[in-house]
Amino acid sequence: MKTVYLKHWLPVSVLVLTILLMVCYEITQPVAAMRSQLFIQGLLFVFCAAVLITVFIKLFNRLINNPIQHLTSVVQNFSSNTGARSQLTGQGELTVLGNSFNRLMDQLAETQHNLNRQKNLYELLSTTNQLIIRLNSQQQLFDAICKNVVKQPHLVLAWIGLVNQDNQKVDILAKAGAATNYLNALVVSTNPALSEGQGPTATAIRKNTHMVNNHFQESLFTQFWLDIAVRENICASAAFPICKFGQPIGAFNIYADLPDFFSADIVELLTEMAADISYALENLALKEQRQQAEVEIERLAYYDSLTCLPNRKLLSDRLADEILIAERHGWFGAILFLDLDHFKNLNDSLGHAIGDELLVQFAERLKHQLRKSDFAARLGGDEFVILLTNLGESQEKAIDSARKATEKILEVLRAPYSLKNYSYHSNSSAGIALFPQQQQNATEILKQADTALYQVKASGRNTFQFYHPQMQEAAYKRLEMEKNLRLAISKQQLLLYYQPQFNRSQQLVGAEVLLRWSHPELGFIAPDRFVPLAEETGLIVEIGNWIFNRVFNNVRVWQETGLLKPHQHISINVSPKQFERDNFFALLLNIIAETGVSADAIILELTEGAFLSNIDVTIEKMLQLRGLGFTFSVDDFGTGYSSLSYLKRLPLNELKIDKAFIDDLEHDIDDQAIVKTIIAMSQHLKLSVIAEGVETQAQLDFLQENNCLNYQGYFFSQPLDQTSFENYLRQQQ
Ligand code: C2E
Ligand code: CA
Ligand code: CA
Repeated sequence: MKTVYLKHWLPVSVLVLTILLMVCYEITQPVAAMRSQLFIQGLLFVFCAAVLITVFIKLFNRLINNPIQHLTSVVQNFSSNTGARSQLTGQGELTVLGNSFNRLMDQLAETQHNLNRQKNLYELLSTTNQLIIRLNSQQQLFDAICKNVVKQPHLVLAWIGLVNQDNQKVDILAKAGAATNYLNALVVSTNPALSEGQGPTATAIRKNTHMVNNHFQESLFTQFWLDIAVRENICASAAFPICKFGQPIGAFNIYADLPDFFSADIVELLTEMAADISYALENLALKEQRQQAEVEIERLAYYDSLTCLPNRKLLSDRLADEILIAERHGWFGAILFLDLDHFKNLNDSLGHAIGDELLVQFAERLKHQLRKSDFAARLGGDEFVILLTNLGESQEKAIDSARKATEKILEVLRAPYSLKNYSYHSNSSAGIALFPQQQQNATEILKQADTALYQVKASGRNTFQFYHPQMQEAAYKRLEMEKNLRLAISKQQLLLYYQPQFNRSQQLVGAEVLLRWSHPELGFIAPDRFVPLAEETGLIVEIGNWIFNRVFNNVRVWQETGLLKPHQHISINVSPKQFERDNFFALLLNIIAETGVSADAIILELTEGAFLSNIDVTIEKMLQLRGLGFTFSVDDFGTGYSSLSYLKRLPLNELKIDKAFIDDLEHDIDDQAIVKTIIAMSQHLKLSVIAEGVETQAQLDFLQENNCLNYQGYFFSQPLDQTSFENYLRQQQ
């Protein structure tokens, strides 16, 4: 209706005017009749009409036009001034219209305000999420979130705290806002027994739920913090738990200077934000775990886990780079292939834990010996490599520098190692290869250094050698020899020699079996040249089995024909490799069963290294064999560890003094002392004792004077082939 009224005011006004004119005419009509004067009638009509029209226009403006103009201007201004409102008063329809407009505008303003607030908070949430994606550190993330939160109107403080597991206190890790002074004396604990453990933050963490207080200054719950809250104008607070993998670990706290600030929608949004922070923490934790795992994977892929030195892979990569660098700069570098002499003996005798300890100490010494640009790696076992760079621009200079560096390194490595209760001396050997050489890649350089090292080991150890091409030839020969050795058994090229042994009355007590290789082209090959190779390649097991078979069969014949008397024995050298086989006992049991030879005719010669890989297992094995009738002799005695503690535990029968102590017995007082000690030791342990390598009367005299019981050596007899030995036995009848 009101719209219709406003919309048709013009035609209505014309109608009213026409009516007014007609009224004027009707009023002036009787007067004109009375006066009969047309002129007067006309004047009166005009006057009345003018008065009425003026009154009408005034009324019209006041009642309709002015309110409409006011309303129009209010509506037009609203876009620039949202506070613009109708000022119309009274009862009129336009006033009602104005009031309706005002209410509408108030609602619109409130909706707009709410929308803006929501928009801001959603922006805050989205910024938080961006921060979570972008920032990799917890501290940066917390700082940035707090700073962003307090940019919102009415938010005067935001802080994030995590529970310190040591004292249950909540450590404030990040804070921002105008009211940060509120936190100066704030102590929050998750311990419910304390008053600082009763507030909203502590409760939010303990109960894992948000705590909203829209009347902070009036609530009993927050009375404890009232003074400072008043000072900092804090009127509402909200605390949200922060979790890591479902467990609350801290809280996100926000304070407003308006009561009732935390409406349901804001709380919902901030809850979401706290959940995002929790998610970020989990992500950061996972990322950290992943990074640690990656570091670990890299460490495993490129570093040796025992010594933490780079491994073969990293060494090869680095060496490939260093070759290029050396080529570019025109200088030489070197690869040192290092190896601990007799490491296996230590490992076997004292156990792997001690062996590992030695390797770790060895690696530590290496690390300290190197210049920054040098590089040490462990390839495995007791094999270490050092990469020396920038040794000089001429080959001579480089060789000289490499030699000096190697001498120094070997010297440092020679100093005693402290291994649990042992002071252990270890020598090392090194093979050296220079780079760059023509068309030589990283693998070849390593191979060359390894070849040089092999030469050092073959020629006595405890020193170093530079690689030279002839060595390659030696390595090739070694390969050839290995190939030939594999065929030696089937081609019946292996022979057994027997070296007689005597007692103090010069009576034959037995003989040691010694292996020979008669090669059609290479001639007679001494065991020193091929037994180590057979041990390295594992061929010794097959060869050893063959020896047992042959010796047992011979002994059977000799015993049957009376050549070998019941008190005479045959000593067989047993390689540690063979002895440590699980089937060693079964093998001997089998041979005894097959040949019927009594085991007490056989002495098994073992070096100290063979006993000790696992002393308990070794004792068990020896006792089993002793049960069959075998007896044991410790070969090369005096060159190994000769530890009384293990000698006492082992079921031994004989010590065999190594030839090395006999050779110079006449002149070397140290050797004399050692030999005397070994003999005394054998007496103490109630063991027999035999000296090998006896070549002269003087040696024999010394040994006899000092109560050595048995002897073996060229003084009595060289090792004899089977026929000669059988003849020898016959002569001894
Ligand atoms: P080994 O067990 O210490 O053997 C003693 C070595 O000293 C033998 O050398 C022997 O011929 C030598 N020899 C004995 N008396 C004298 C002497 O008066 N003067 C000198 N100059 N030498 C003497 P061979 O036969 O060359 O054996 C060397 C090493 O090879 C042996 O040392 C042993 O370790 C190994 N070997 C020899 N035969 C076998 C075998 O059948 N099995 C195993 N596993 N190793 C063996
Ligand atoms: Ca021997
Ligand atoms: Ca020996």
